[in-house]
Amino acid sequence: MSDRETRHTELAEKYLPDDLLERFRDRAEVYDRENLFCHDDLAELATQGYLSVFVPTEFGGGGLTLNEVSRLQQRLATAAPSTALAVNMHLMCTGVVRAMFERGDRSLSYVFDEALTGEIFAFGVSEASNDGVLQDSTTVAEPQPDGGYLLTGVKIFTSLSPVWTRMIAHGLDNTDENNPTLVFGFLERSADGISTSDQWDVLGMRGSQSRATTLTKVRMRPDRVARTIPAGKHPDLLTFAIATHFQLLVGSVYAGIARRALTLGAQGLKTRQSSKNGTTFAEVPEFRSRLADALMEYMAVPAQLETYSRDFDDLVDHGAGWPLRLISARLNASTVARHATESAMMCVGGAGFNAGHEINRLFRDATASLFHPPSVDAARPMYAAALLDDN
Ligand SMILES: Cc1cc2nc3c(=O)[nH]c(=O)nc-3n(C[C@H](O)[C@H](O)[C@H](O)COP(=O)(O)OP(=O)(O)OC[C@H]3O[C@@H](n4cnc5c(N)ncnc54)[C@H](O)[C@@H]3O)c2cc1C
Repeated sequence: MSDRETRHTELAEKYLPDDLLERFRDRAEVYDRENLFCHDDLAELATQGYLSVFVPTEFGGGGLTLNEVSRLQQRLATAAPSTALAVNMHLMCTGVVRAMFERGDRSLSYVFDEALTGEIFAFGVSEASNDGVLQDSTTVAEPQPDGGYLLTGVKIFTSLSPVWTRMIAHGLDNTDENNPTLVFGFLERSADGISTSDQWDVLGMRGSQSRATTLTKVRMRPDRVARTIPAGKHPDLLTFAIATHFQLLVGSVYAGIARRALTLGAQGLKTRQSSKNGTTFAEVPEFRSRLADALMEYMAVPAQLETYSRDFDDLVDHGAGWPLRLISARLNASTVARHATESAMMCVGGAGFNAGHEINRLFRDATASLFHPPSVDAARPMYAAALLDDN
């Protein structure tokens, strides 16, 4: 085995050993059925040091790379997709700061100290109807005389809603109508004006408890303002790091779901008997082909995640080619997760239609991938332009 693969194996054993994954898989069913937040999983991950994997070693963290965390997130999602998606938001925040630190911007290093003292970071970017995502905001950011801001708006789908203590959030400062400015920074849960929706009864990823968060004049302290940048398309290290971590780590979660679905599909075929053939369904050519196709389609997904995460770690400059790579990796992982869970459902047969069957949950969890930005419809113009328009 190469040194790299040996290290991946060691990290898997250190942070996510097999017995931990088995416990997580058992609890995932309960969280899903009872619509509960994954409290026990998060506590175990904290004990394992998983919440500080991205914190550089000189600060006392694990010092892992994006590539290493992508692999771990794929592994975690094979057992507990909701937990993986929820903790993803915390990992993203710390990973973004780590990436900036490595590129010479040390202004947000307080996030490392806070992560080590147990603060949990949420990602408060998504807003209803904001299809500009990081380039726009429906949240109002009112500048204050001390250099801070007051944020008012609704952030939808805030994963980790029962437990987060810090949130990276953005808002639009429209004081100068001709030069609207986006403000990015960190909010504290203890600040006045934060409320969490009591609505959360969803199709999948139920354990993530991604409830909407309403902000009413919530103070962003001056020393927690990370960036003020022009609204619209504007190159910036913070938003580049957010986009990279979001696309590749969310993609990793759906890659993990697809991988587990293939295993369940194979188990299903080996278990079910065909009275017509006198064998298990694992010997029936049509079923073998179905699973073979699913595996072939899946294989490209970890390969994309691997290449782009390593390129990011190695500071490869793909320039304007980065969004094409990152979004394609996440969209492909999403599509493959939905395809693989459907194929696996057919291999498992009618038993998989039962609410308590693992493939039933994975099938529902995979549908959440339809909603992460950008959707395939939103992304297509960029890919078409890359081939068809003169740039
Ligand atoms: C389980 C789960 C957990 C999540 N956790 C978080 C989290 O922790 N933090 C966070 O910030 N977000 C999170 N999200 C939010 C998610 O990533 C999306 O931003 C959100 O679901 C989009 O909601 P919407 O479809 O209602 O958006 P809407 O505002 O209704 O629609 C915007 C949609 O329009 C699409 N669109 C834009 N342009 C076009 C076009 N030209 N053609 C077609 N479509 C277009 C966009 O891709 C986007 O999907 C989570 C989502 C899920 C499902």
